[in-house]
Amino acid sequence: MVAPMSHPPAEPIRHDWTLEEVGALFALPFMDLMFRAQQVHRAHHEPNSVQLATLLSIKTGACPEDCAYCPQSVHYQTGLTRSALLEVAAVREAAGRARDAGATRFCMGAAWRSPKDRDLKVVAAMVREVRALGLETCATLGMLTPEQAAELKDAGLDYYNHNLDTSAEFYGEIITTRTYQERLDTLDAVRAAGIHVCCGGIVGMGETVTDRARLLRTLANLPQHPESVPVNRLVKVPGTPLADAPEVDPFDFVRAIAVARVLMPRAHVRLSAGREAMSDELQALCLLAGANSIFYGERLLTTGNPDVERDRQLLARLKVTAEKAHPTEAADAGPAGAGGAAAGHASCGHEASHARAS
Ligand code: SF4
Repeated sequence: MVAPMSHPPAEPIRHDWTLEEVGALFALPFMDLMFRAQQVHRAHHEPNSVQLATLLSIKTGACPEDCAYCPQSVHYQTGLTRSALLEVAAVREAAGRARDAGATRFCMGAAWRSPKDRDLKVVAAMVREVRALGLETCATLGMLTPEQAAELKDAGLDYYNHNLDTSAEFYGEIITTRTYQERLDTLDAVRAAGIHVCCGGIVGMGETVTDRARLLRTLANLPQHPESVPVNRLVKVPGTPLADAPEVDPFDFVRAIAVARVLMPRAHVRLSAGREAMSDELQALCLLAGANSIFYGERLLTTGNPDVERDRQLLARLKVTAEKAHPTEAADAGPAGAGGAAAGHASCGHEASHARAS
C-alpha cells in the first residue's frame, strides 16, 4: 500500500498581495507554478476530491444588461429561447434529480439586472425547498440590496454568486450597463447578510495577463476571500460581441486557476463555464492546478455541460471522488479572524453562462 502524500505546512492567508507579486506568479515557469499551486492545495484541501455542483437556469434570457459574452443579454441576437421564472415545484424536482445524481450543491441562476421584490419571494421559496432536500443552496440573481440579501439569508441561502468578471481597468470593454463598484457593493451586501460569497471571472475576453492578475488580486485582497472562485473560460457564443474573441492558450487558462489557488488557499476554485470544450487531459491539468469544484450534470445557464456519464468516467479514471457538503465552512475568517462569513451561512453562484457574471 502506498502511503498518502504528506501535506506541506500551510502558508499564511494573505490579503495584501501587490500586483507585482501576482504578476510574478503568472510569470513563473509552468512547472514551478503548478508545484506551488499543488503545495497550497494540499495544505488546505483533500487533494483527490472535487465538489459537484449543479446549476439550473430558473429564468432565462431577456436580461437588460449588456455583458459582451452573454447570450442572455437582450442586446444580442443569439437565438436563445427565453423562459419566465420557473415554478417552485419544477425547481424542487430538478434539485431532487441533481441530488440523486450525486450533486451536493444546487445553484439557481436568473437573468436579471436585479430581482424584483415579488420575484425574490419566489426564489426564497425555492431556496427553502432545495434546502429541505439536504442540498447546499446558491443563487445568482444579479445585483442585490442589503435588504434583499437579508431576505435570502432568512430563507436559508448558503451562497450567492456575483462575478467581477475581469479587472476594473478592462471592465468597461465588456459591460457598460453597470459599474464595477456596483458589483463590489453587491458582494458587500451578501457578505454583510452572512451569506457565503462566490465570485470569480472569465478568461479569454481579450484581456491581458495583467488584467487577470488584477482581477485575482482584487478578489484575494477583499477583507475576506470568496468561499468559491469560479474561473470561466469564455464560451464564444455566435451573436455576442465576443463571438470571435482570440483563443486563449490552454496553459494560460491553467495558469489562472493555479494563481487563484495560490492567492485564495481555502476557497473552492471552480472549473466552470467552458469545460465542455476542454479535453479530459486539460480538465485534469486544471484539477492539478488546484480546481476542486465543477458543475455537474444538467446544464449551465444556457449552454451545455459535459454529460454526467463523461464526468463520472473522468473522475473514476483520475481516482477523484466527490466531496461531501460542508455548508458552514468559511474560506477565510478575514485578516483578524473577523469579517464575517458568519458561521452557518454562505454560498455560491451564478457563473454561468459561462460566465454569467451577475
Ligand atoms: S451575464 Fe448576467 S447580468 Fe450580464 S447579460 Fe448575462 S444574465 Fe444579464
